[in-house]
Amino acid sequence: MTTSGNDPFHTWLAVLAGEPELGLDPAWLSDEALAWLRAVRDAHGEVAPPYVPELMLERRAAVAETALAALRAAAERDLGSPLDLRPEVEAECDYDTTGSVAVFGEQVRALGPEEAKVTVADAVQTFVAHVHRTVWPTCPDHRTGLHPELTERRAVWHCRAGGHDLPMP
Ligand SMILES: [Zn+2]
Repeated sequence: MTTSGNDPFHTWLAVLAGEPELGLDPAWLSDEALAWLRAVRDAHGEVAPPYVPELMLERRAAVAETALAALRAAAERDLGSPLDLRPEVEAECDYDTTGSVAVFGEQVRALGPEEAKVTVADAVQTFVAHVHRTVWPTCPDHRTGLHPELTERRAVWHCRAGGHDLPMP
């Protein structure tokens, strides 16, 4: 893999970065987001900026849905009741030209699955706290609430009481 600024991928990235409303400044893009952009270029070529918001919205909706499906299943299993929670996707959005993907009011901005999972996990926790009036999930060893975190590029449940991580579904 090259890090040269002159290869076609980086040239295209520079074009996208020139459109501030896309929010694709290479300095702030995660490895997951870059991997997705590379996949977009491989599949569709050097997509012109006006067509990028639709692809970003689709991608955010997809990573949010995948993360929510896994977390919802885990919460339903633990709580023993169904969670009425779906991603809210809006193509037209007053404050963001790339549209809006949200879970229980929490904006999913990530383009990568692990980063999206952290946001969605936070939203599921808030939903469970509001609607089911319980703390989920809890550490089986320390019996305290767990916190979603990105550790070594993976979404994990972090236990502050024990200073350890548990895998996220
Ligand atoms: Zn623990």
